[in-house]
Amino acid sequence: MLVLKNIDVFYGNVHAVKKVSLHVDQGEIVALIGGNGAGKSTLLNTISGLIRARRGEIIFEGRQINKQKPDKIVKSGISQVPERRLVFKPLSVEDNLLLGSYHRYSFGKSSSIARDVEEIFAMFPVLAERRKQMAGNLSGGEQQMLAIGRALMARPRLLLLDEPSMGLAPAVSQMIFRHIFKLRDELGATVLLVEQNARSALKISDRGYVLETGRVIVQGTSRELMQNNDVQRAYLGREQESVSQ
Ligand code: ATP
Repeated sequence: MLVLKNIDVFYGNVHAVKKVSLHVDQGEIVALIGGNGAGKSTLLNTISGLIRARRGEIIFEGRQINKQKPDKIVKSGISQVPERRLVFKPLSVEDNLLLGSYHRYSFGKSSSIARDVEEIFAMFPVLAERRKQMAGNLSGGEQQMLAIGRALMARPRLLLLDEPSMGLAPAVSQMIFRHIFKLRDELGATVLLVEQNARSALKISDRGYVLETGRVIVQGTSRELMQNNDVQRAYLGREQESVSQ
């Protein structure tokens, strides 16, 4: 579904992503793990068109997208949930969701949009209870659910999630991971998941890539990565949490 070939990204002279190649197949959850500054967010922002790769190719469903603008990339079926959630805090929960579907209005699809809002509320009932409240008043976990719901309102075929567990209490982040797993299991979503919480990410994913200083240093099935000594030492050693599916 998604193929990255030899992607290089720079910020001025800083070479943040170095010759990264990876792929995501339809229906997979693929984890991209790595420490601070490894280049994970840069890579997601490059896929969604917010940052331009200097070299390399990004192919989504057979079409090259690395020269397309972000709005075109959303239309072609990729939605990103940004790091730190970034919901529109002064707006209501419902309006945040509606904004996620803005490009669909031009097609006169407002009744299907209303149906989708109700589906998001069915998936995250806590949001339904707060539909008229300001998003800024939600807890961190609720804002993460809203950010995921907003991305789903674009009806993506590929969902990019940037550190959904960041800043959340362990129990709340586990609930978010369970929701991500359900998205794939029950809705058939395809997910590229960036996480520093390697153990939880590998538990719910099918395959993974480990990024270190901009390079992919190990890749494999999530089970293989969990058993890899280097990955265990560097990324799993001190984490005590686990996700029960
Ligand atoms: P984190 O988990 O801490 O967000 P990350 O793996 O997502 O880390 P990136 O944020 O992609 O890493 O950063 C990759 C590298 O690019 C780092 O060296 C970072 O300092 C650098 N970088 C990121 N954004 C910029 C920017 N706007 N300008 C200059 N350098 C940047």
